[in-house]
Amino acid sequence: MKKLQNKVAVVTGGNSGIGLATAKLYAGQGAKVAITGRNQATLDSAVAEIGNDAIGLVSDVSDLKNITGVYQKVTETFGKIDVLVVNAGVFTAAPLADYTEEMFDQTSDINFKGAFFSVQKALPYLNNGASIILTSSGVSTKGMATASAYAATKAAVRSLARGFSAELLDRQIRVNVLSPGPVETPIFGRNGSTQEQIDGMKVYMADITPIKRLGTSEEIAEGFLYLASDDSKFMIGGDLVLDGGYSMI
Ligand code: NAD
Repeated sequence: MKKLQNKVAVVTGGNSGIGLATAKLYAGQGAKVAITGRNQATLDSAVAEIGNDAIGLVSDVSDLKNITGVYQKVTETFGKIDVLVVNAGVFTAAPLADYTEEMFDQTSDINFKGAFFSVQKALPYLNNGASIILTSSGVSTKGMATASAYAATKAAVRSLARGFSAELLDRQIRVNVLSPGPVETPIFGRNGSTQEQIDGMKVYMADITPIKRLGTSEEIAEGFLYLASDDSKFMIGGDLVLDGGYSMI
């Protein structure tokens, strides 16, 4: 029995990494999937990988104007939404002394403001009983040098899941967080770092994680499936931590 048969799912930032693995797993479990991202070409190739009539829509989550259009299009194509995965995010690390206002605003606009409005604008397009999953991070509860602004946005997202849950109870809409630890994805290479810096960051992250390796996007996608499906129907406002022990031990 497929766990998401006849469900409609939207995955923001679904053209790469964790979002793409999640979209693929959802489609394999019977969902009609819409992914968003900023680049049409990567969306097109991701859609081909996902299959099951998936669609890809260009949308920058930090630009509020175009978020509503995405949900309208999804609803016209597949019907109202049952699962919303708020996954789009960026990771920009730099020493506190060097962290610029531009880095701060971009991190905050995408990871925090983008998450808030991705949910707000979806409200008219969600079925009652829908599941919303926000992507936080193991670092939201831990101090990590160079990552304080990023971690703070993820702590904010953790908080949003509690407030949204309280507000959406009357529609039986569940809002939960998934907190991955360090995962092998392109995220570490998106902020202008050299290959050597990226490799160094990955080695460092694996070393400070008790399991002594990075996670895979597929391991994290399994958690998104749990939170999307009825398997997690007793979970509201919670945090599923899949982090190899990073924030636990
Ligand atoms: P990734 O870079 O592979 O994917 C990020 C996705 O977000 C991409 O599809 C990208 O296009 C999209 N995106 C970025 N900015 C956007 C914007 N303004 N509008 C729309 N889409 C945008 O990285 P990933 O590791 O798969 O990250 C997915 C989520 O997981 C992020 O929220 C990230 O913070 C979180 N996370 C990642 C890790 C990790 O170690 N990889 C750990 C904890 C949390």
